Order: sequence, then structure tokens, then C-alpha cells
Amino acid sequence: SRRPEPAPVRTTCGYCGVGCALDVVVREGEVAAVLPARDGPVNRGHACVKGRFAHGYLTSSERLTEPLVRRGGVLTRVGWDEALGVVASGLRAAVGQGAPDAVAAISSARATNEENYLVQKFVRTVIGTNNVDNCSRLCHAPSAAGLTASFGRAGGTDSFDDVEQADCLLVVGANPVEAHPVVGARLLQRALDGAVLVVADPRGVGLARHADVHLPNRPGTNVALFHGLAHVLVDEGLTDPGFLRDRAAGLDELTPLLAEYPPARVAAITGVPARDIVAAARYYGRAEHPAIVYGLGVTEHLHGTDGVRALANLPILRGAVGATGRGFGITPLRGQNNVQGASDMGALPDLLPGYGHVTDPAARARAEAVWGRPVPTTPGLRIPAMFDAARDGRLRALWIIGEDVCATDPDSTRVAEALDACPLVVVDELFAGETARHADVVLPVASWLEKDGTFVNFDRRFQRVRTAVGPPGGARTDFAVVHAVAAAMGADLGCRTPAAALAECGRLAPDFAGISHERLDREGALHWPCPSPDAPGEATLYAGTFATSDGRAHLAAPPYLPPGEEPDADYPLLLVTGRRWAHYNSGSMTRRGANLGLDPQGHLDLHPEDAARHGVRDGAPVVVDSRHGQARLTARVGGDLAPGQVFCAFHFPDEHVNSLTSGHADTATSCPEYKVTAVRLRPA
Ligand code: SF4
Repeated sequence: SRRPEPAPVRTTCGYCGVGCALDVVVREGEVAAVLPARDGPVNRGHACVKGRFAHGYLTSSERLTEPLVRRGGVLTRVGWDEALGVVASGLRAAVGQGAPDAVAAISSARATNEENYLVQKFVRTVIGTNNVDNCSRLCHAPSAAGLTASFGRAGGTDSFDDVEQADCLLVVGANPVEAHPVVGARLLQRALDGAVLVVADPRGVGLARHADVHLPNRPGTNVALFHGLAHVLVDEGLTDPGFLRDRAAGLDELTPLLAEYPPARVAAITGVPARDIVAAARYYGRAEHPAIVYGLGVTEHLHGTDGVRALANLPILRGAVGATGRGFGITPLRGQNNVQGASDMGALPDLLPGYGHVTDPAARARAEAVWGRPVPTTPGLRIPAMFDAARDGRLRALWIIGEDVCATDPDSTRVAEALDACPLVVVDELFAGETARHADVVLPVASWLEKDGTFVNFDRRFQRVRTAVGPPGGARTDFAVVHAVAAAMGADLGCRTPAAALAECGRLAPDFAGISHERLDREGALHWPCPSPDAPGEATLYAGTFATSDGRAHLAAPPYLPPGEEPDADYPLLLVTGRRWAHYNSGSMTRRGANLGLDPQGHLDLHPEDAARHGVRDGAPVVVDSRHGQARLTARVGGDLAPGQVFCAFHFPDEHVNSLTSGHADTATSCPEYKVTAVRLRPA
């Protein structure tokens, strides 16, 4: 008789930050299918082509299955004991020659919460430095900084279930139809059901095609646009005086600033017609329940944190935040699956798990009581500063976990130079990508379908990640690797299982104290803050007071300042980078399998006028130059861009798109300005 099929394994998607629950069908030890869970709390039976089909990489012959150590200039297969010995002795030597601050680690949204927790614990308690950061530095660090300054917590204000009830959706700097498809579909459905849809984005793609008003502002002009919208709200009496009086602060500073941003002036700065700015502000200002959803088009700028704060002014002016019943606040669409969680777990150079600051004695004392070790008191290096320190010899060892920084970080030529200058570079990876070429040790690790733990999605929801299949060959989870490196250095990190790690995190981070694997297995998902085992988790934040020091929401008054680069005679075009529907980041997983057939190569989208001016035909190869580097792409004429702007993704490392992007970064958080690079192009 036939044996019964094993039950599918319920897990959480490891691609974008939506957090779709997936049922993984396993046959004979391999993933046979990935199905969207009908009872998934966010996806409710839906998933996109990434979650459903991008799992062919699991069995790719290119998967790393054994550790590699550079010998005589060549990465050579070795056993785990030897590789761990090289890592441990290299880290010890770096500490010996340059003190603990000569070592740094880059953790990742690709890693589970428990892995991120363990990485930062290792760096702080075994190495003795705060030099730990994660890839949120490259995407939503301005959200954490901006939302904390405005409201008190480093997450979106409302759950997506609330956002979906809005009667006016303001979608800013995002193309969720491609980058967060399940959310994109739900937003579009809400608009088709009658909600007003306002989209502010330089490109006219995705939701913009269905918008009641589309505001295609020039890249780098967000702050001016948001102040222009706020100007109209104030000018036309569309604010909430009671809320501003009782629950907000900063109106006296903001009011004179907004007077400088009338629609006509904002139109001149942004390129958006003044009548559309007025129309959008009236839609948002007159709606009963408006909501704001935004993406990396807001954060990845020289003034990204200013952009977040200027955008957050809108729900404060309207009294549409903080469970007032008058709207659903502001929600950042996190790009990667666990970018919220990586920061929640304290993989940050200045913040401990739960966002206690390393300079705060009380926060350090909480961690020290649990860890039994002193916590370093000086904030560590952010990712771009780690590369600077490697180049000038201060950094002697860098451990990079799950990030192909030579493909995904800006000004990638300088990133590669930094790695080459660093005496020890250790990389945890699935494949030998661009970064591995510059590594001294490459450790083969498990992917999201091959490990156990939790992720936190874009609306602060913890969900379980479960092992569907084992990692190939000798590959191990990052959790096991961090433990093994600690052991090789004579240290014991405790918390032997992911469940124990999350429980330990909850002991020093009150917001997560009520969240456990056992509870998630029973209840499915829990929003943080969730301070006790019987707390339900707060889907909507700030029902009482805001979490700022005075309990008020804080309006901000940053002036509009231009981006780091503007087009000029030498580089007349503005390059915007972003994502495409079938691929994800460096594409190391999505290019190895069915999704490559869906979207087989990169493109440079450009306007027909620019194509004609530069003598470029649709489908022809082009060379793109910036002040920082050169890329070779295939022209795609169209893409709903304004003349003077071009767009591409960086899913195909052979194109070297991030050799073009600049080192300009958010003045508050060091988040790179991926969205504005001056370039020129010519036929190849
Ligand atoms: Fe859902 Fe995002 Fe995964 Fe697609 S990539 S299935 S939208 S979590």
C-alpha cells in the first residue's frame, strides 16, 4: 500500500518583507512545490512568483557544500574543523593586533531573528565590540530613525489589516506590484473597491497606472513634495487641531517652514504640476481613514531620514495615527524578508536587542545581567564605515553573513578594494558570489527553506520559519556556524536552540518578552510589542500615548536640500535603481531556477526621447557610465519614466550596476542614495 504523503511544512517566505505563510510540499527529501497558505495571516492564500517558484536554487550544482579557505591565492576545499580554526585564529589575531574594534560583522535579513541575535551577542560578548550592523543600513535605516523620532518606535504604526481598510491610500516611493506583489495586489484590490489611490513615484508603473493622482516627482525631491502636501493641508484647514494640541509637538517650528513650500514652488522643484499636488493633498486631507505606505524611494536618499519625517508629518497633521479612528498612520514596506527583525534583534552598532542604546547604562545593564559579560559602551561602525576602516587599515577582520556586498552595496569597486585590504574576510554564503572572490574563508550555509527560527515582517509580525529540507552536503545554519566559531575561540554563547535564543532575547528586550516559538506554533503570528505571554501583541501602536520622551508625536521641519548628484553636461541622465517582479536583490537564488525563464536578463529602461538622443535602439546593448564606474546593460525603451531618467535593477551581477551607484548616503543613518545617480550612456 502507498505510504501517506508527509504533511506540508508551514514556513514563512524568505524573499520580500510581506511575510507570506507558505506550505512546502516535500517529496523524497526535495521541495516538490511551495503553496501559499490559505490561512496565512498576511497572504490569505496568495503568493508571488518568488515565493512560489524560486526554490530551484536548493538543488543547484553550484551550491556550496564544503568550507573554502584561500591557499596560495586559491579558494580550496577544507573540513569544518580547519575552516573554523582559521576563522578563530584570524579573529584572535585581529583583536591582538588592533583591539576588539579591529573586528566587525555584517549580519543580514537573510538570517533568522535567532541568528541575528546570536551574531550580535557573539560580536559584543566574545569579540568585545559594537561593530555589528545589518543590511537595513542599506534600505530602511532612515525608517527606524525617522519613525522613532516622530512616534517613538522603530516600526510602522499600524498593521496591514488596518491599512487595507483605508479609504485613501497614499503609496510613496514604492512599486509593490513588483517588489511586494501580495501587498501590491491587496492595495490594488482596495483601490478597485473604491478607495482613492494616490501614488508618488518617479515611475508610472504598477499601482501608478491605476492611481487617481500620480505624482511623478523628480528623484531626490521627496522632502519638498511632502512639505507641499502638508502646506495644502494647513492652508485649507484639513488638519486636526485637537490632535495637534493634545498629542503632537513641533507645529510652531513647522508652520513657518511650510509657508515656504506653496504648490507653485514645489512644482518647480519636483516637476509635479501644482494642481496635482493640491488634488493629492485634498484627497488625503478629506478622507475619513487615510493610510500611507512607502518604500525605498523615500529612504535611499542623501536626506532619507528627513524624507521619512516629512512624510510622517502628514498623518500627524491629520490626526490619522495612534488609534484615533481617523486613519491608519504610516507603514514602511520592508524590502527583505527579515530586515525588521535583524534590527529588532540588535544587529546594529548603536542599539541592543529591543532598541536599548549602547550608551544607556540601564539598557546595557539589562543585557549584561542576561549575558553575564560587559557590553561595550561605544557605538560601533556602520557598514559603509566598516569598508572605510578596512581601506585605511583599522579593520583587520570582517565577517559577512548572507550578504553579497560586492554585488549589492553602492560604489562596488570601492567595496571590493576594502575587502582586498582587510587581512581576514569571512563570508557565510549559499553560492560563491562576487564577495566570495575577495574572501579568505567561505562557509557554506543553509537558506530559509533549510532552517528553523522566526522572521519579523513589514508590519512587525513574528512568524515561524521551519526546516523543510536539510542543507546540502556539509552546509550548516548560520546559527550553528556562530556557535561553532564561538566554541573555537573558547566561548560558549549558551542558548543552544533557536527557541532558547528567542526566549533569551525576550529577557532583555521587553517588547518581545511575550513571544516564543511555542506560542507562535499555537497562534501563528504575533505583532510586537508583546510584553508578556498573555499579551495579544499590538497590531496598532500608540493607542494611548506615543513612545517618545514626552508622549507626543513629533512634527519635523527639515528644509528641502538637493540630492548628492544632479544631472549636468557630462552626466545628463538620472539613474534610479529598484527591483523587478521575478527576482530578488543580487538574484543569487532567483536566477537559479524557474524564475530565470520568467525574466532572463537585466534592462536599462529609458524614455524614447533619450533613446533617440543617444542613438540607442530597443534591445540594443548600452554602456552606462557614472562618476564611480561603468555597467553594460540592454536598452528597453519605455518603462513610463520621464525624459532624463533611466531605471534598472541589480539582479544580474555580471552587469555591475552597483559600480555606478555613489557613496552618497543619508546624513543621519548612512543609508546609500541608490535612487539618484547621474549617468551618461552610449551604444555598446
Ligand atoms: Fe509573499 Fe513577498 Fe514571498 Fe512574494 S516574495 S511570496 S509577496 S513574501
